[in-house]
Amino acid sequence: MLKSNILIIEDEKKLSSLLSRALTQEGYSIDIALDGLTGEKKVLSDNFHLIIIDVMLPHKDGLSVISSFRAIHINTPVLIITAKGEIEDRIKGLDIGGDDYLVKPFAISELLARVRSLLRRSSSTVQKTIRVQDLTLDLVKRKVSRGKNFIDLSSREFALLEYFITNKDKIITRSTLCEHIWNYNFDTGTNLVDVYVNHLRNKIDIGYKNKFLKTIRGVGYQFVSKLN
Ligand code: CA
Repeated sequence: MLKSNILIIEDEKKLSSLLSRALTQEGYSIDIALDGLTGEKKVLSDNFHLIIIDVMLPHKDGLSVISSFRAIHINTPVLIITAKGEIEDRIKGLDIGGDDYLVKPFAISELLARVRSLLRRSSSTVQKTIRVQDLTLDLVKRKVSRGKNFIDLSSREFALLEYFITNKDKIITRSTLCEHIWNYNFDTGTNLVDVYVNHLRNKIDIGYKNKFLKTIRGVGYQFVSKLN
């Protein structure tokens, strides 16, 4: 089974390394961020199955970090850990998109139980979305969003995008696209592929600083997953 990736955003080094050790022992793969901004950057650039986040963090507080990635439709489950046990804070944390709440100090065994429960609850949905940078594909609803914007794609465009993302960063020839998306062999007389790729590019790239689709002259296309 695939290891679940967990991101811990916690500035208390003792606690973050304690959590990291305990979770690694349980078989999870762990990444740590020691402040809010670094944490947010990691959430945006990587795929995590769960985020454990403290509220009081340097540079950007935990609740603001959660709101900002929820605003762009990142639905990764979030476990909030905090020293504040006040009822108002709990409600605020859950209202802005936290999924569960744990008040410090807590027993590691309780944290592990919450982690298991959150991962179990979300395991059905985690596999149903693909995310690259600020682009999200919901494979079940067949919906796409970039940043805060929903993008309307035809089913052919969606299939094309899904194929690009599955083969991200590889150079894909027009004939390969023709075979996989249209199920027929390449007819040298048609510019069908270019037309569709251009439609897709207009929808997902035009107006955005970072471009995903790159034309490889004389060869085909490349979906560039890293920021360019
Ligand atoms: Ca803290």
